[in-house]
Amino acid sequence: MKIPSKGGTPEEILAKMKAAGANDARWRDGRVFSLVYYAGEEALALLKDAYMMYFSENGLNPSVFPSLRRFEAEVVAMTAHLLGGDAEVTGTMTAGGTESILMAVKTAKTFAQETRPEIKAPEMVVPLSAHPAFDKAAHYFGVKMIHTPLKDDLTADVEVIKRALTPNTILMVGSAPAYPQGVMDPIAELSTLAREKNIWLHVDACVGGFMLPFVKKLGYPVPPFDFSTPGVSSMSADIHKYGYAAKGASVVLYRTRALRKRQFFVYTEWPGGIYASPSVAGTRPGGAIAAAWAALNYFGEEGYLEITKETMETTRRLQEGINAIDGLKVLGAPVGTVFGIGADTLDIYAVGDEMTLRGWVLDRQQNPASLHLTVNRVHTPIVETFLTDLREAVRLTREATFRNVTNKMVKSVAKSAVKILPKNLTGKLTSLAASGSGPATDGPPQRTAALYGMIGSLPNRGDIHNLVLDFMDKLNAPPTDSQSDK
Ligand SMILES: *Cc1c(COP(=O)(O)O)cnc(C)c1O
Repeated sequence: MKIPSKGGTPEEILAKMKAAGANDARWRDGRVFSLVYYAGEEALALLKDAYMMYFSENGLNPSVFPSLRRFEAEVVAMTAHLLGGDAEVTGTMTAGGTESILMAVKTAKTFAQETRPEIKAPEMVVPLSAHPAFDKAAHYFGVKMIHTPLKDDLTADVEVIKRALTPNTILMVGSAPAYPQGVMDPIAELSTLAREKNIWLHVDACVGGFMLPFVKKLGYPVPPFDFSTPGVSSMSADIHKYGYAAKGASVVLYRTRALRKRQFFVYTEWPGGIYASPSVAGTRPGGAIAAAWAALNYFGEEGYLEITKETMETTRRLQEGINAIDGLKVLGAPVGTVFGIGADTLDIYAVGDEMTLRGWVLDRQQNPASLHLTVNRVHTPIVETFLTDLREAVRLTREATFRNVTNKMVKSVAKSAVKILPKNLTGKLTSLAASGSGPATDGPPQRTAALYGMIGSLPNRGDIHNLVLDFMDKLNAPPTDSQSDK
């Protein structure tokens, strides 16, 4: 494909783009339980205006755009205050939770290199439920990842973490809350351990940073998790999640300015001049910074409290309805508005398939097998419809499970630890299974639940890794003729 030799009119381009999105998920209808955070049309319109006002400005050089410097400084300060920080706590804005986490890991590593130079092979101890951004950071920055198993309630196990510490440990991580089940790691205990052993503790509040403080203020129980806990060295909080900002906005915070300094990158020898950049990104979109500032000032504490009250009540109604369905249960003890649905005697992925057929978008999770919900205001009106469909999905799954109880593949679904993969891999996996490395199959699986079961029973997780790499390669392949809109 090449750039068209002759360009189109704005009307033509926009019409094509609109048509291209015809099959995208319709998140405004409350059918989608991930990826989009939405606080209503007025807020959305403001965010778009704010983003557009600073569409062309670049946060890379703040001396050229003092407005952006001010917006960023204020966003960081407001976030630090929200998360129990004193005047010393500070940080930077980043493009998202992943960049915030990358920065925290890099900064902890730099700090260790300066203060504990005897460490040649740094390690970090991270509970299994923590976000893969930590694995990405380990991969990028050459820090050895030590994953620790969770307790039965799906929270971090401090005793196991304690035993996993070595003289090379430079960083421990706790999530507030962890994304998969919305449960809180015991930050206070981790903080005590961090102080005792003099190890950096990062609290990942990417999803909780703009939710938990308001949940707590509304009177729901929230254990300590922020800078008021003395052993916390750094935190991450995404404004583009429950801060309802435009995408591309997160904050990474440090206990002191001296710690933050270790995040910055400076190169003085470039022919283009002395180059200084606070985070991974070079060019930093002014729009994302401006829209984050607009969001905080538009909602204010009262606005966030009102939205959180509504989403918490919606979450509770959903959870009560789910727990009332025989065979389903909300996993662990979620504190806020994200949680997972599990099942003991049912194939939860088959329930997920039935929900997909009914137009719901729910992420599949593993270890334990579950479906995931990120609750927003758009879900308030759909609670009853959702629960009705869920009851029906469970009924149909039970019938199907009973019918196929002798089917070897379904059995393996029930007992295996399963892996979540996109449908497109079906063909390849089927042939892999048929080639003898998986269970025998009677033809290609018709439902994704069976597919996940088959994947779970593959003897070698390395096969899955390579399959996913293959899949990503195909996903990012050049467009074919059939995709172009000629
Ligand atoms: C979303 C999330 C992240 C990663 O944030 P991105 O903005 O997707 O990069 C990290 N940790 C937790 C707990 C999250 O929920």
